[in-house]
Amino acid sequence: MRQIVIGNWKMNGNLALVEAMAREVYARVASLACDLVLCPPATLIAPLAAALPGIALGGQDCHARPAGAHTGDIAAVMLREAGASHVILGHSERRADHGESDAAVCAKAVAARGAGLRPIVCVGEGEGARAEGRAEAVVLGQLAASLPDDFATDPAGIVAYEPVWAIGSGRTPTPDEIVAMHGAIRAALRARFGGAADAVPILYGGSVKPGNAGAVLTLPEVGGALVGGASLVAGDFLAIADAAPALGRAPGRG
Ligand code: PEP
Repeated sequence: MRQIVIGNWKMNGNLALVEAMAREVYARVASLACDLVLCPPATLIAPLAAALPGIALGGQDCHARPAGAHTGDIAAVMLREAGASHVILGHSERRADHGESDAAVCAKAVAARGAGLRPIVCVGEGEGARAEGRAEAVVLGQLAASLPDDFATDPAGIVAYEPVWAIGSGRTPTPDEIVAMHGAIRAALRARFGGAADAVPILYGGSVKPGNAGAVLTLPEVGGALVGGASLVAGDFLAIADAAPALGRAPGRG
């Protein structure tokens, strides 16, 4: 499986960034060893699709319903129509800022799949849970309740392990901690989905930068990266993509 490097622009970016990103990424995308997905604010999906036809695009959230009286929300089918093929769901900032529960994330994942979008479901423990030795229990609990039963069915969804305390902080777990958590996630996916689980990439997210991307992306069971801040600078985003190994490790292999 090729690795996937996903950029999450959060509530950042404008048409000038779309143009700059398109200029720099377009020339490089065909020679990369990994797949790229950019998730800009929803208003920039269509302009980015027009300016940068070579890469996949995603939304940062969607509503569980296809239409209706939900002011300020966006439906999965609308993202699809704008040019998205993916959608980030259950990011810790949405869980914290909007009180999104695992059940809500699961309902959104169902809606995303129904609209033809590949869901990228985020899970991750807070600093307290890590300090108390509950990181794995928290993450596996989120995973069990946030993924719908058809999550591993072709086209399989994507899981992003993002420790909340590592996002935007410049801190990362140790390599051993990442390997242990990704291994636990893989085991849980296999227990639930059987052999189909191996089609689900498990990405790491949380302060991935050009300087640490190589060390993270070559760890067992790391199928790519979800990148926040560094995805706003084309050179940094491309440097992270360049660090992806030419052939991603097969799930389960050390
Ligand atoms: C994120 O928000 O998903 C993220 C990983 O952010 P950063 O890379 O800035 O830590």
